[in-house]
Amino acid sequence: MSNRINLKSLSRDQISVFVEAQGLPKFRADQLLNWIYERYASSLDEITEFSKDLRASLGEISYIGSLTVVKRQQSSDGTEKFLFGLEDGQTVESVLIPDKDRLTLCISSQVGCAMGCSFCLTGKSGLIRNLRAWEILDQILSVNRLIKPKKITNIVLMGMGEPLANFEEVVDALKRIISFIGISKRKITLSTAGLVPKILELPKMAPDINLAISLNATTDTVRDRLMPVNRKYPIRSLLDACRRYPLKPRRMITVEYVLISGINDSVEDARRLVRLLKGLRCKVNLIPLNPHEGSILQRPSDVSVLAFQRVLTDNNMTALIRVSKGQDILAACGQLKGKYAVEPGKNI
Ligand code: SAH
Ligand code: SF4
Repeated sequence: MSNRINLKSLSRDQISVFVEAQGLPKFRADQLLNWIYERYASSLDEITEFSKDLRASLGEISYIGSLTVVKRQQSSDGTEKFLFGLEDGQTVESVLIPDKDRLTLCISSQVGCAMGCSFCLTGKSGLIRNLRAWEILDQILSVNRLIKPKKITNIVLMGMGEPLANFEEVVDALKRIISFIGISKRKITLSTAGLVPKILELPKMAPDINLAISLNATTDTVRDRLMPVNRKYPIRSLLDACRRYPLKPRRMITVEYVLISGINDSVEDARRLVRLLKGLRCKVNLIPLNPHEGSILQRPSDVSVLAFQRVLTDNNMTALIRVSKGQDILAACGQLKGKYAVEPGKNI
């Protein structure tokens, strides 16, 4: 498989060049794009519009790469978790969250993560490798294929990994999610732990997508401990970058704040948060910690979560408590960790 070209890894121009190089008419490029991105073909054999001979000759030099579905788990609240196998046997997860007329898919950008946040299960494994652009967007194509005729409407890059640490592949994937899969920019949200230079670069490369930052603390001392990335890009520089992030009218930055008992959940923290976020067009998502096995960090009581929220709303801020979906299948944020070793190419 390795010396054949994966058609899913090609841009529109590259597909055209490929088609031309085979001596095929130009319209074959559109047909390929249509079968891959709208009909979710996962092998050349599915392209019944092509003659058997054409499929065979294309198959000698190319193939349509696809993630394999290793596991699919449904939660009692309707959330579904997918474990995908990659060609090298690694695995990543995506979570499908139905909500009214929306179908949001939370996708991964890396296998593991190098950021080492102390509360996060993905961070525990360290970085195994970056995902390629096609592996990022194939999470969407694979789920669309499984839920046909329904379609994913919204994307959040909040699964495994730090998207801005895999900048080029993520930007390439974003461009193709918008132009090939047809999900609009305002329905895509990228969440980052705070890689400041990349936050500043993102709007040039992929304008108008929604930005979410994982703030999770109100002092550098606490944030240094929870999120080592803070030692390089402290709170002030992160919030400065947010203030410079171009926002269309009525758009807001999402500030994610994982509440951890006794660490960052006091009323003083809430007051500091109000001061820090003054003048920033943002909404706050409060996420009570999902404790994972072996961690000493704990989720705060509902009373302290509500008290924290109250301080923010009393100061005219939008602050929602994010109800963790899919708890029973460990599909909540920070609970994602591809745990299954699979043989490359093996499907369920
Ligand atoms: N690396 C990016 C995106 C993936 S993490 C980032 O950090 O933003 C997505 C979200 O899950 C982040 O807001 C993170 O703070 C949160 N998260 C991680 N571990 C968690 C846990 N154990 N409980 C609740 N939220 C968690
Ligand atoms: Fe990586 Fe985000 Fe987890 Fe931190 S919270 S370890 S940045 S995935």
